[in-house]
Formats: sequence, structure tokens, C-alpha cells
Amino acid sequence: MPEGVAAPSVGARVVVPLGTRVVTGIVVETNVEPRTSNRERRTPNDEPRTTTVKPIREVLDAGAFVPPDVVALARWTAEYYAAGVGDTIPALLPPMARGGRADAHKTTRMAAITAAGLEALDVARASQARDAITPKQREALELLAGTPTGIGTAALAALGIAADAISRLAKRGYISLRQDRVDRDPFVEGVNGLRGKTSETVDPLAGAVGLRGQTSEVSNTMLTRGDRQLTGEQIDALARLRKLADTRAFHVALLHGVTGSGKTEIYIRLSTAIRDAGRRVLMLVPEIALTPAAASLFRQAFGERVAIQHSGLSDGERHDQWQRIRRGDIDIVVGTRSAVFAPLEDVGLIVVDEEHDGSYKQEESPRYNGRDVAIVRAQRAGALVVLGSATPSMESYHNAMTGKYERIVLERRVLDRPLAAVSVVDMREEYAAEGPDVILSRALREGIQARLERKEQSLVLLNRRGFATAVFCRQCAGTIDCPNCSVSLVVHGEGNARRARCHYCNFTSRVPPACPLCAGPYLEQAGFGTERVEAEVKRACPGARVARLDRDAIRKRGSLVSLLSRFRDGAIDVLVGTQMIAKGHDFPRVTLVGVVSADVGLGLADFRASERTFQLLTQVAGRAGRGEQPGEAIVQTLYPDHYSIQLACRQDFPAFYEREMLFRRAMRYPPMISLVNAVVRSRTFAGAMDDAADIVEQVRRSDPSLRILGPAPAPLGKLRGEYRAQLLIKGMNRKKIREALQAALAARPELQRRVVVDVDPLSVL
Ligand code: ADP
Ligand code: ZN
Repeated sequence: MPEGVAAPSVGARVVVPLGTRVVTGIVVETNVEPRTSNRERRTPNDEPRTTTVKPIREVLDAGAFVPPDVVALARWTAEYYAAGVGDTIPALLPPMARGGRADAHKTTRMAAITAAGLEALDVARASQARDAITPKQREALELLAGTPTGIGTAALAALGIAADAISRLAKRGYISLRQDRVDRDPFVEGVNGLRGKTSETVDPLAGAVGLRGQTSEVSNTMLTRGDRQLTGEQIDALARLRKLADTRAFHVALLHGVTGSGKTEIYIRLSTAIRDAGRRVLMLVPEIALTPAAASLFRQAFGERVAIQHSGLSDGERHDQWQRIRRGDIDIVVGTRSAVFAPLEDVGLIVVDEEHDGSYKQEESPRYNGRDVAIVRAQRAGALVVLGSATPSMESYHNAMTGKYERIVLERRVLDRPLAAVSVVDMREEYAAEGPDVILSRALREGIQARLERKEQSLVLLNRRGFATAVFCRQCAGTIDCPNCSVSLVVHGEGNARRARCHYCNFTSRVPPACPLCAGPYLEQAGFGTERVEAEVKRACPGARVARLDRDAIRKRGSLVSLLSRFRDGAIDVLVGTQMIAKGHDFPRVTLVGVVSADVGLGLADFRASERTFQLLTQVAGRAGRGEQPGEAIVQTLYPDHYSIQLACRQDFPAFYEREMLFRRAMRYPPMISLVNAVVRSRTFAGAMDDAADIVEQVRRSDPSLRILGPAPAPLGKLRGEYRAQLLIKGMNRKKIREALQAALAARPELQRRVVVDVDPLSVL
């Protein structure tokens, strides 16, 4: 630490040397003895090395930049999910706006100090040398060193730093220049057609020094929403939730409400009550663009004091939103997973909408589940958590059944609208009647046609992208596989646009005219995905306006929002898509939902396959009949007798839970036990298996009470050129599993980089 500098607070930003670079970090702990962790000990040669602790170069904040309770939450997350605390830091900090984003918005030129600039400043401070930098340049560097996110050149000019001093510093590499957008209210880009009324100009200095004025205060929620009468069930649910919130103590409530039962309305009224009591609200949704209701309804209800946080925003937008939250200008944060770390103080309520959704789980380190971190955050803050879903996760429902969570049920749709009537089409009979190539059953084709005539809309779900899912050779029965992964390539596009692509590593090639294995000329496309279904709907219903919504269709920024709003406006009659079309939408004119191949997910070697299938079918059926016209769902399957399909069609969650628990109990899977998945990667198959076997042995030795499945080749045995072996560890106590695994890895530190540890995995592929 520089002399005469007091110890920094937890949460303060510090500038520290890291190898040859200088980086900004966050203080997570003070007054600790220096220690070397296994992570730090890793070197390129896998040789242990001792680390010397280097002094902090600069403390950027007098107090906490990130609130200390959020830092503590991040530490908990790192420990629980067996990750390095450094991995959690990106979720805590506003992104540094990077340059180069040229778009229609007004931009401002920003200057930021570089590592070389910091060093030059050190030299200047120490030596007084004449030839180093001019006093004006030094003044500029001093200013910029205190604001690593950068300062606008206009603001610097106002502070008396002229443009030529700036350009000379830039030429010497002491500062970097970039363009930042100024007009950064994400609502302006239109979430669900809602336009932000004001687009504030952001003072580039304000974020760093905290000098910003309050934004205007808006809206009395109760007044603007007063015209809508809550249903009896909504009133009861709200009363119970308010009572829990009034205790100002930690509670978890599972709000189990069928699709269309009006959960969002409850979240909004409850949030109003919390805000009126002087506390703040965190509202988590799986994907903001797919649940436009949440963002725009909250903005309507709470006006300017709502911030939104999700990865679809530009860095600049996220930065501004973060700063507004941190300054206390915000009462309600609506965000995706990482918003659970929002720098919001006095949190009284955390809502986790669609709590079962897999998007809450981060699939890279730290592999946290935003829902579970939310519960821990609420526990520490003495807040209420509301987990909302029509299809709760097995874990949450289990906790509700055992009394750990309060259970609040909404059994009816608002205005007594009926749930969609579901019918099942047995595709074996359909093939017998119509031939083996049929994709849309007669019932589904007729159903779509009838909707077209009545000017109603249809959704068609197939949870598989592409045109054809495999290319195989009729001569040698070989398939065209990815050279890097153990999967077959998926055909996208038709005719000249046809390409074969790997869905895991994005390897792309043309579709060869002959089999690469035997040179046979009889290559056939097999299986079908959303692109093919889209083509089939167009063929079956000439004149229908058909569009597709899947990851391929929305690669361009903004295309998702525009697709959804075109569908909402009635410019599209039939929307074909993957599970994306099932999520949280409220399209009142959809009266038919078709599911093509309901059993797509059942074949996967994953203990959650049935749970996911049940959730997806129930959710997508729930998109039909949300308006005045009743809805219908047609489910095509080869396994009409499978319990998750049958019970989803009856929309009988409790029966599904009981049936699924039989399996989880018998096979000892969560929620009966805790599960940790470890995947060992290696350049050779034998290497992966040997190392995995070694870890299994170590884990067994350190805790014989644990049950271990494996080592075995992972279901996805090769990925991006690396072989993968897997071990699943089951136990009653998560901490013991983690400790045994960490002990095993400590014995083989060189393995750490090649082992991925997933605590509470959602998928074990
Ligand atoms: P859920 O999230 O439970 O699926 P939503 O909150 O999306 O359901 O509500 C379904 C629809 O019903 C929405 O269009 C919503 O505006 C409307 N709605 C909610 N509560 C009421 C009510 N009390 N009266 C009339 N309409 C309501
Ligand atoms: Zn691949």
C-alpha cells in the first residue's frame, strides 16, 4: 500500500499489479495474512511456485464502491459453488464501457488511463523530472487515475485540460480514447413497445464521484392500477405475502399459480407495499426480452425509479443503470440472473419469477443459480423471497411440501378463463395413416387453418433448431459428425444456402455431395428442426404469415424485440419456435398451441429430462387462451403414455411431483440428496478417464460416506476437441462433497484447470 494511505474498506476499488499488468480490483477482505491458494500456485508448467504479495498501488474509493453485503454475497457464492472469488467480481461491477459502438445515439468522447499512464504518473510523482510529462498532462493523469472508467473529454476541457494535452497523452499510450453513448436509457429502445419518456443525459463525471442530482419522482402506483379488480385468489395471496413482508424477517414463499393466474399483478402490488414501507425490491426474471411484461409493467407502475439489468443491454446502459442503483436513485431493479448482485440497499423483497427456469443457472464459473443466491441474499437482508411459477422446480416444491417454504396457490386463471384444452396425437397412428414423413398431424394442420380463418394466432413448438438434425449415408449408415465434438452436424437452410453446423462449437461446413466415409452417393437428411417446421407450415397453409423464433432467428440485436412486437401486433399469424416461445409471453390472441415432437427432451441422459419436458409442455400450453377466446393445445408424440406427457396434458402438477419423486427417491437424485457433477477434460479419452478415476479414488478415501457414479464418459463425450469424463457425487451434505472434491483436487493441482465442478447441476450432459 502507498505510504500514508489508510487500509481500504471492503468493497473499495484498488489498483493492483498483476503479473505485468495493472488492473482494478475489489477489496473482499482486509487484515488477512497473505496466503497462496492452489489457484495462485498454478504456473504454465504446473510447478508450484511461491507468490510474493505486492503492494496495492492505489486505493480508488474512500468507502465501499460495491456495498459490503454484496461483496459478502459474492464470497458466499464463490465458496458454495467451488469457484474462485475472482470469478464473481464481473457480476459485481458495472461494465467498463468499451469503445467502438457506433449507432444512432449521441456519443461522447471518453478518455481513460492505461497501465502505462499509471506508471508514467508514478515516475512523475516520484522524480519531479522535467522531461517526463508537463504539469497539465500530469494533472490530467491524476484526474483520470481516480476514475478508471474514464472521463468525458468535454468534462476534462471544462476542468481546464485542453484537447492537445489529451491527444499528446493518447499518442504516448498513457490514455485510451473511446466513444461512449450518452443517451442510454434502455427503455428508449423499446421493451415491448414502451418508450421511455425521458432520455437523460449522463454526466460522465457523476458516476465516479457520486455527485449526481436525483431524478424526477413519478407515479402513484395504486392510483394508476386502481381500475383493475383483483380476483379473490389474488387478494388472498397478496394478503398472505404482505403479512410475511410486514414481519421484516426472512421468509420464502412459493407462489404456485397456473399460467395466466395473474402473478405479475401480485408482484407489482406487493412491490408497491414494500416501497411504501421504505424498502427496496429486486425482481428477477429469466430473460427480460422474453418477459416484456415484467420490465414494461414495472416501468409503468414505478416510473423512473426502476432500473433494468440484463446482458442484452450495451455496456454503457448497464453502467448507467448500475450507477443509478448504487446512488440510491432506484427503488426497484428488474433484471436477469446477475442482477441478484445489484448494489441495492435495504432490500425488503426479492421476486424470482419462473423460478424453475434453467436460465437462472450460470453455465460458467461461478456456476451459481440466481434463485438460490437470491434466497441467501434475502436471508441476510431479512427480506421476503417470492418464488413464482406454474411449474415449480422439484426442489422448491419439495421445500414447500416439507414446510420450509410457505406455499401459496392460485388455481384459476383470471376472469375464470379456462386453461387450454389439451389433446394428444399419437404419431404412430399418424404415420400409419399418413406415411412416415408427416411432420404436422392432420389435427394440427386443421387447427392452424381454422385459426387463420378466424383471424386468431397459433404457436408451434419444436425444441430443436435447424432444418434437418442429421445427414446419414444409406450405404454405410455413417453420419456426418462434428470433427471437434461427439455429435452429428445439423443442417441449416435449404438449397444453395444449405450448411451443416455443430450446435456446440459452431463448426460449419457445406453438406458434401457424397459420404465422406464410403464415398457412397446416397446421403439422406434425417430428423427435423424448427426451420423444417416453418417450411411445413408455409406449405400446409399458403398465404399464412409465418415466422420463426429461435436462437438462429434472433442473432441480430433488437430482432427478438421486433419479432415479438410484430406477433403481438398481429402482423404474424403463426410463430414457430423453440422453448423461447414458451417463456412468459402474454399474447391474448393466441388460441392454439401445437407441440411437434413433445418427447424431444425425454431421450436425454439427464435425470431432469422428465421434469423439463413437463415444464415445457405445461408452459407452452399455458400460452393459449389467455385472452377472451378459449385456448386449445395439440401435442404430438411417439410416447403418449409417458407420465410427464400425460400429466402435462392434464396440467396436473401435484400428480407429476408425486410420480417424479418416486424416481428421484429410488435413484437417489435431488431433491432427495445433494449432487455435484465433475467433468474432467483431456486431449485423449484415456487421459480423461484415468484422471477421473484418480479423483474418484481420492474422494472415496477422504469421505467414504459419499456415493460416486463414475468415472464414465460424459454423455457429451467430446466437446471442442477435448474428451470428457464425468463423475457424479451424491451425498446428504453439500459441504462434505465439496470438501472431499477440493481435497482430491488439491492433491493434483495440475488437474484443476481441466476439471469443471458444478454444484447443484441443472444439466449433467
Ligand atoms: P401469469 O404470470 O400468472 O401467467 P399474468 O400475470 O401474465 O399471469 O396475467 C395474465 C393476464 O391477466 C395478463 O394479461 C394480466 O394483465 C391479466 N390480469 C391479471 N390480473 C387480472 C385481474 N385481476 N383482472 C383482469 N385481468 C387480470
Ligand atoms: Zn462441434
